[in-house]
Amino acid sequence: MTLPTPETHLRDVTRIVEHRSTGEQEFLQSVREVLDTLGPVLAEHPEFIEAGILDRLVEPERQVIFRVPWTDDQNRVQVNRGMRVQFNSVLGPYKGGLRFHPTVNLSVIKFLGFEQIFKNALTSQRIGAGKGGSDFDPAGKSASEVMRFCQSFMTELVHHIGEDTDIPAGDIGVGSREIGYLFGQYRRITQRYEAGVLTGKGVGWGGAEVRTEATGYGAVFFAQEMLARAGQGIEGRRAVVSGSGNVATYAIEKVQQLGGKAITASDSSGYIVDEAGIDLELLKQVKGVERARISEYAERRQSARYVTGGSVWDVPAELAFPCATQNELTDVHAKTMIANGVRAVTEGANMPTTPEAVELFQEAGVLFAPGKAANAGGVATSALEMSQNAARSRWDRDKSESRLHGIMRDVHESTFDASERYGRPGDYVLGANSAAFVTVAQAMLAQGVI
Ligand code: NDP
Repeated sequence: MTLPTPETHLRDVTRIVEHRSTGEQEFLQSVREVLDTLGPVLAEHPEFIEAGILDRLVEPERQVIFRVPWTDDQNRVQVNRGMRVQFNSVLGPYKGGLRFHPTVNLSVIKFLGFEQIFKNALTSQRIGAGKGGSDFDPAGKSASEVMRFCQSFMTELVHHIGEDTDIPAGDIGVGSREIGYLFGQYRRITQRYEAGVLTGKGVGWGGAEVRTEATGYGAVFFAQEMLARAGQGIEGRRAVVSGSGNVATYAIEKVQQLGGKAITASDSSGYIVDEAGIDLELLKQVKGVERARISEYAERRQSARYVTGGSVWDVPAELAFPCATQNELTDVHAKTMIANGVRAVTEGANMPTTPEAVELFQEAGVLFAPGKAANAGGVATSALEMSQNAARSRWDRDKSESRLHGIMRDVHESTFDASERYGRPGDYVLGANSAAFVTVAQAMLAQGVI
């Protein structure tokens, strides 16, 4: 049998995915972004082509879609759609978050699940990849509505998860409150205290220290490593951050702890600029405790202004951390940022930068860290939570943060090393995709055609 060349093989696989997943824009974007970089790996490993690794990798192992009925505070019946995509379990049980947001559809969950395969492989924590969620919109819902929704969602999800099969966590719209409601219902139905079935739990009942902070902190640790390699640092630099949820808040916190100055935050209505540096206590109060809009921050702080129209990317800074959602940073933004002297862009969110914008950054010599490497600290700390649950132990904050830091250093190193090995030193996109793909592909090869 003559093997196709890497280029032909990649084209064939792309064509099949496009045919099978017509209209799934986000999923197709994430697949193309990975396949575009894998030529050098396939040239070195023709056995991956022969074993149909990519043909299998782009097709989820299992997808579950279900109805989530619940009643609102007026006693009206509401129905949402729930889903869980179990993408790949060659390295371990499926692992990845749940997203509750009105924009959730199968394409979004598949893109997130596909990214998760590579991210989880980079952490070296022996976890497979999955993702799930619902088009439920938590905005404006009472706590009891959120609880009833979570209970209904778990009443179906319970059939598909378990500490050795699939371990969900949080994502957009799912924080420790929702994880609490989900876990309570799981425990009630199964009559088991299976702590390891969900991560992101409260620290008082099985959660890990620093899990809440891990994604944001980890992204900044990655930026620190990337900048250090280029002889630069975070101290004294201005940083723009988008979002004001879990990832954004703790990215801002770590930037400040390392001597940088984070000056922006945003939500889906607008953004704030605070030239005095973000007041973290106020941000946590407004967004975390009160669940209010970001405009409220500017109402209470003299040095801040609230802006609607445009985006945080219009604000000049040397460091940028997109931490809100997919495709929030476009080529138009990238041109402005490059003109304003940006040095490093580190993705806290998943796929926040469009492919055109990534290309512009790379051409301009801006350091660019893709989310699947830079935001891997969240899932890595979730894996540490699973280990602590299994051992019925609990690590303190220092140990937890130092493990996270070590993992992010390793993710950076393996990503950079792969970028060198496959011919584009400093191309962290190619590096992350290649390093992760080799790990996953070798395991798939060893485990046969399944
Ligand atoms: P949160 O729900 O805590 O916060 C999300 C933030 O993004 C909010 O400020 C929200 O504003 C904003 N946002 C959401 N959708 C949009 C939109 N369409 N346009 C503009 N702003 C929007 O989520 P997280 O912080 O947990 O997640 C943020 C990103 O990080 C996501 O891409 C997620 O997949 C990724 N991520 C999260 C991890 C985690 O551990 N939580 C791990 C790895 C990646 P608003 O309040 O107006 O909706």
